[in-house]
Amino acid sequence: MRARQAAARQDMGALIITPGADLRYLTGYDAKPLERLTALILRTDSDPVLVVPELEASAAAAACVEIDVITWAETDNPFAVVADRLAGTSDVAVDDHMWAERVLALQDVLPGTRIRLAGEVLRGLRSVKDADEVEALREAAQAIDRVHSRMAEWLRPGRTESAVGADIARAIVDEGHSRVDFVIVGSGPNGASPHHEVSDRTVEAGDPVVVDIGGTMPSGYCSDSTRTYIAGGAAPAPFQEAYAVLQQAQAAQRAHARAGVTAASVDEVGRSILRDAGYGDLFIHRTGHGIGLETHEEPYIVSGNNTALLPGMAFSIEPGFYLSDQYGARIEDIAVVTDNGLDVLNMTPRDLVTLG
Ligand code: ZN
Ligand code: ZN
Ligand code: ZN
Repeated sequence: MRARQAAARQDMGALIITPGADLRYLTGYDAKPLERLTALILRTDSDPVLVVPELEASAAAAACVEIDVITWAETDNPFAVVADRLAGTSDVAVDDHMWAERVLALQDVLPGTRIRLAGEVLRGLRSVKDADEVEALREAAQAIDRVHSRMAEWLRPGRTESAVGADIARAIVDEGHSRVDFVIVGSGPNGASPHHEVSDRTVEAGDPVVVDIGGTMPSGYCSDSTRTYIAGGAAPAPFQEAYAVLQQAQAAQRAHARAGVTAASVDEVGRSILRDAGYGDLFIHRTGHGIGLETHEEPYIVSGNNTALLPGMAFSIEPGFYLSDQYGARIEDIAVVTDNGLDVLNMTPRDLVTLG
């Protein structure tokens, strides 16, 4: 297992992973985040074991056929079971998202053991996708593209953001996701808040509307794509001018991103175009985030991140501009670095589309 080798290289004796994306990545097991402890113990010097509460044993065994499952009974102390399995290791690393009460309970049963974060090794592995993961991301991108392609069915003046959002949420599932992760319908002034979700505001003719949507596929991999639409009528002229610059910026970032360039440079290529046109202050967030089993993960496409991009890295390219009390816009695609360029997974048109 690559995780074991990577952990050994960093002098970790064992990784302890609780339910979440890391566990799913390592074992395929989409375990429920219960109050009862489930933990994968991945020692660098022996085969992995999965410690699970007795009542989850059959689900765990079905999901992880190649891993020994050890059960604990309702009145056992599961941390003692874990400590037993860690005998002889001096350095353990825990899931970055392990609950604090568990970390403290582990510390109690492992006195003198240094506890680090498993992310030190897992981030590097998870940020570089293999061919199957890229295909899973492509399926997710195609599913969310089908939702964007149907936007005319729902988005038009006279409807509230919430009504439009409810229709979009249904379509996210209908088009193949197993779960809706978020639905942002930011009409007019609400578009100026990048993480606005939906409200009871009625969409008006000529409103720019930021629609940023995503979900999780049965594979566990996530989608995330933003398009900006115009509801009926014509958008304000200053908006159209700014949007044309945004399109240039996003296209330049797609053209620039490739193996060997830094994450920070991808951000700068788009930011400088917006800055030169006078919109620098309106681009108030980083360019993007990695995506995989989680919507936001490494690598972050942000100023200061001088990580060189590697083939297999998957992330969003999503510059925007936000003018308080007026409007906002964002264009977001998920892309994967390849050996000789960039594979952009989202394919719907990036021009301003007028609906309704
Ligand atoms: Zn975001
Ligand atoms: Zn998004
Ligand atoms: Zn995003």
